[in-house]
Amino acid sequence: METKIYKLDYHAIDPEIIKEAAAVIRNGELVAFPTETVYGLGANALCSDAAKKIYAAKGRPSDNPLIVHIAKWQDLLYIAKDVPKEAEKLAKAFWPGPLTMIVNKNDRVPRETTGGMDTVAVRMPSHPAALALIRESGCLIAAPSANASGRPSPTMAEHVAEDLGGRIPVILDGGEVGIGIESTIIDLTEEIPMILRPGYITEEMLKSVIGEVRIDPGIIAADSAVKPKAPGMKYRHYAPRADLKIVDGSKDAVIETINALTEEQQKQEKKVGVIGTDETAACYRGDLILSVGSREDEDEIARQMYRILRAFDESGVDVIYSESFATPRIGQAIMNRLLKAAGHQVLMAQQNNGGRKIV
Ligand code: AMP
Ligand code: MG
Repeated sequence: METKIYKLDYHAIDPEIIKEAAAVIRNGELVAFPTETVYGLGANALCSDAAKKIYAAKGRPSDNPLIVHIAKWQDLLYIAKDVPKEAEKLAKAFWPGPLTMIVNKNDRVPRETTGGMDTVAVRMPSHPAALALIRESGCLIAAPSANASGRPSPTMAEHVAEDLGGRIPVILDGGEVGIGIESTIIDLTEEIPMILRPGYITEEMLKSVIGEVRIDPGIIAADSAVKPKAPGMKYRHYAPRADLKIVDGSKDAVIETINALTEEQQKQEKKVGVIGTDETAACYRGDLILSVGSREDEDEIARQMYRILRAFDESGVDVIYSESFATPRIGQAIMNRLLKAAGHQVLMAQQNNGGRKIV
């Protein structure tokens, strides 16, 4: 299949391109499009055959539900069985934006869209191309991240083309996304609303609007016996091809430890990648050293993370050592993705002896 790629200007979305893409959605086919978080792979959410095509194109397990993207509050009322009181407050505060809410679904939503669940995940994106596509198509659009299953989420149209080129008819290219990590997911069907996936909208932001909020213990535990409630969070899906380890500790100890590990690996003819920051990148001696930006700018770290993981995949390094990025606001979301990519392998750096212990 030929994949058509259309460039869009964020500030002047071309209505003709949106019309063409909307017709593809109405026809039950797939369109990849930019959102403010990552690129999505969209299909008509209320058509089971269209939703099935998403799973086929991505190679996504059929029990991993999709997020339904909407353009107006009434769309949520149209597919929800009941609307919890918190939903309206959260929508007023954070929609359109990077927050996904889980509510009970009604019969309009096919089980193919929800991976067989009785609940549905709903989000109103803020990206003008996403909103225009939803409105013009007249459909609600189910869209998971537009990567092949097992690859990092796409933050640029080129990533989508790498993974899905030739498998989908249309990619809308809106340039690099603004946030770079997927939406926060909050489950409103729980007695106390529960965060199933951390994201740009933090626990504190949610608490300031609806009061008590819990975090799903399954997403914090390194122990795979504790199952996360969002089916997608159980997969180690951000895994780069090389073995990734996170090195935590003070700045100097981390640099010393990563350099000692690099030397050991290079003696064994292994190629070493390092994920550092603008402040530290020059201190490393690996074969490929990439900076996620300044440690002072956590938005930039979030935006760069997946692009950098992909770059290492292209480079053929055998191991990657990464600094830890438990930054104040979105550090929880960044580290959730990075820890998964690393299969929870974390080394504590110790200074002056190049030593380290595994925690
Ligand atoms: P993606 O769009 O690729 O980020 O994947 C969507 C995420 O939302 C996955 O982790 C899903 O497991 C999660 N999700 C979607 N619908 C539900 C639901 N009804 N209940 C719990 N998690 C969900
Ligand atoms: Mg995904």
